[in-house]
Amino acid sequence: MTAPAPARPEVRTTCPYCGVGCGLIVRGDGARGATVAGDPSHPANFARICSKGSALGETLGEEGRLLHPMLRRPDGTLERISWDSALDRVADGLGKIVARHGPDAVAFYLSGQLLTEDYYAANKLMKGFIGSANVDTNSRLCMASSVAGHRRAFGADTVPGVYADLDEADLIVLVGSNAAWCHPVLFQRMLLNKGLRGARLVAIDPRRTATAEEADLFLPIAPGGDTALFCGLLVYLAETHALDYQYIDAHTTGFENTLARARSVAPDLAATARASGLSAADTARFFELFGATERVVTCYSQGVNQSAQGTDKVNAIMNCHLATGRIGRPGMGPFSLTGQPNAMGGREVGGLANQLAAHMGFSPPDVDRVRRFWNAPRIANREGLKAVQMFEAVARGEIKALWVMATNPAVSLPRAGAMRKALESLDLFVVSENVLSNDTVNAGAHLLLPAAAWGEKDGTVTNSERRISRQRAFLPPPEEVKPDWWIVSKVARRMGFADAFGYARAADVFREHAALSAFENDGTRDFDIGALATISDADYEALKPVQWPLRAGGELTERRFFAQGGFFTPDRKAKFVAPEPPALKEPTSARYPFRLNTGRIRDQWHTMTRSGRSPRLAMHISEPFVEVHSADARRAGLADGGFARVATAHGACIVRVVVNDCQQRGSLFVPIHWSDETASCARVGDLVAPHTDPHSGQPEAKATPAAIAPVDFSLRGFTRTRHALEFPQGTWWARAAVAEGIEYRLATSLGPLHWHDFAHRAFSPRARLADRLADGTYSAGAFLDGELYGCLCLGPAHKPLQFAALSDDALEENGSRSARRVDDSIRAGEAVVCACFGIKLDAVRNAVALGEANTLAQIGRKLRAGTNCGSCLSELKRLIVLARRPQHTAGSLD
Ligand code: SF4
Repeated sequence: MTAPAPARPEVRTTCPYCGVGCGLIVRGDGARGATVAGDPSHPANFARICSKGSALGETLGEEGRLLHPMLRRPDGTLERISWDSALDRVADGLGKIVARHGPDAVAFYLSGQLLTEDYYAANKLMKGFIGSANVDTNSRLCMASSVAGHRRAFGADTVPGVYADLDEADLIVLVGSNAAWCHPVLFQRMLLNKGLRGARLVAIDPRRTATAEEADLFLPIAPGGDTALFCGLLVYLAETHALDYQYIDAHTTGFENTLARARSVAPDLAATARASGLSAADTARFFELFGATERVVTCYSQGVNQSAQGTDKVNAIMNCHLATGRIGRPGMGPFSLTGQPNAMGGREVGGLANQLAAHMGFSPPDVDRVRRFWNAPRIANREGLKAVQMFEAVARGEIKALWVMATNPAVSLPRAGAMRKALESLDLFVVSENVLSNDTVNAGAHLLLPAAAWGEKDGTVTNSERRISRQRAFLPPPEEVKPDWWIVSKVARRMGFADAFGYARAADVFREHAALSAFENDGTRDFDIGALATISDADYEALKPVQWPLRAGGELTERRFFAQGGFFTPDRKAKFVAPEPPALKEPTSARYPFRLNTGRIRDQWHTMTRSGRSPRLAMHISEPFVEVHSADARRAGLADGGFARVATAHGACIVRVVVNDCQQRGSLFVPIHWSDETASCARVGDLVAPHTDPHSGQPEAKATPAAIAPVDFSLRGFTRTRHALEFPQGTWWARAAVAEGIEYRLATSLGPLHWHDFAHRAFSPRARLADRLADGTYSAGAFLDGELYGCLCLGPAHKPLQFAALSDDALEENGSRSARRVDDSIRAGEAVVCACFGIKLDAVRNAVALGEANTLAQIGRKLRAGTNCGSCLSELKRLIVLARRPQHTAGSLD
């Protein structure tokens, strides 16, 4: 273990979770802990942070970290090796495979969690020096359709707007975006605008999410209905003379064709409503609002992007903004909300298989320019394989070496189970990681390289509004842990490319990245941060958040794009894009009659390797679940709080049932976060079909045909312990962090006697076990030196969880304090709505039901809930609304 770190007084850095890119002030405690607060001076958040950001201090421990380079032995076990040996093996392995099979036999799979400097070095090595463009990233699963839509319409991957537009808009349309949970700080900003200026919110989503609860108008669109809705809107705008023909004529091409296509897709209001599954009245209200409001921002996110028609959806939205000239001016424009902290930095670097570098593609002049800049004679001159194609090529044996950095594709890819199997066939499988165990590592990685984690890393990230911020280290990395750019550079040097990878520090990489953006850039490329190409080490260290484009001479200023045209196409005009008639790739069937939607929950991030360490975050929702409409639940024989098997043609999972009329009939929703590390059978990526968008390559993650059926267990309960446990086959379990260890939620059809034997084996052999079997319940407490070491509690699955009190002897022997803590464990398992103050869902429900708190302010005064970060405000509001609307059930996980 590392020696305690000296406390640093205060470090300004950036949150490692979502694309809002909140600035943080971190104060280390001299050990591995830290307190985290929002940075009042950061323009992304002005001091606000959400529940995930505020719990970062709980995620910094070294437990479970990958601390040394490791090699997998033939028997599958891992052996510690030196860095020299690890780097030699990677360089030698890549070199041999390239020599034998050519550069396209190797691939890198990167991540929006990487810093820009890491991304730059990896992209440069593969595309410039190995000579293949097989570099893709988990951002392909997140926002590739936005990139493709931007490039088709604007000629470059340019986000036109800035966050300040959310303050100045009079109408904010959220399409396929549960911003209340996924971009909470931006959503709070929208609500502030609503409260202060009367801005109206429209939410367009198949689910009535926390975001929808705040909307003035909620459009529960049918899966895949977005293109028809925005085609219908374009037709409406044309027919009501709401178009800006001056802007269309001066700055765009292709309008007439696009309008004609829109008319064929959605000729009138009734046809639009039918095609998008909405009522004519709601559709008309939306059209009227959009038509009558000059300052409109349309924010869109994964609900639009994660679709086999995602790029067309993006362009259908952009068409409406271009046609009204509502782009690039204060309070208006299309706005892609990025999922990851550095998806934008990855795009700037060119870390996608269909980009080369610095927003340049594979046209001969671009390839030539980058070749000369990098002095890279073997540079790739054509696009590589995008994520899904890349892993299919692994499965076919065409890609023989894969290096995965900072991501967990064995969980997140479509058909994740099959992809995981494919990884086993690689000749060389390298993983750069923070953790010793995750689904990807455990898929048989040959070499594990310990990479620096948030708090140890040093570099830059770019958020959704093109703002580059520093991520600064405030913890010394464990001794053998290294930054990703360092690892890549060392491998590159060993492969014979020392001259091009002589970086000594992150600032060296950043300066080169900035210089490339400006290289032979006469203003025809949007991404230009050349003003930072000569930044000194000291200025890099002190760099304040800065938004590109930068003004010449280094003066830093904010700027929007495209109010006066100036697009990055050859004729400098935007292109209207006529979308294809919308059609979901795969129909539902008698066998798979539902549409499976996947997405995020409020307090977890990706596959939980960081957020899953926080007990506070685990309290919000601690089990994987499926949301199902009450009518569908009745028909399928599902009970709220019971269990269900959700299956598609590709895989299945078993999760808790939440009956919730926020879900549309015919749709199921399962969150993306759980993996084989955190649950027995809840990796939803296994179920997702591999259909991809033809332009972006982004997979369809929200409409796979699916079936659902109840699963019965006779007992359910939980166990708490200080160490990981293995359960008997057939046990359903989900793991969550708690203050002094791990809690597993359990369901089983094994009888209580079996669990009596299990309890005697499971806890510390030194612990004294006191247990009791009564009325079909089984309870056990394991006591070590008078302290509770672990406990196990199981009761009939169809009843509320009950604890069979331990015998008086046990209490006397071990002390009532310990016994009380067993009881506390049960209460701690109740669902929490406000993570900051640990306020239970039931406490809020009771206060509302008893009339003690009927408004957010009253809940705040009585319970404190919602008075800190604000992430739970939408849920609190929903609880109030649902209490007044008894026909809707809130659904429960408690
Ligand atoms: S909104 Fe939350 S998760 Fe996103 S960057 Fe800000 S603090 Fe982090």
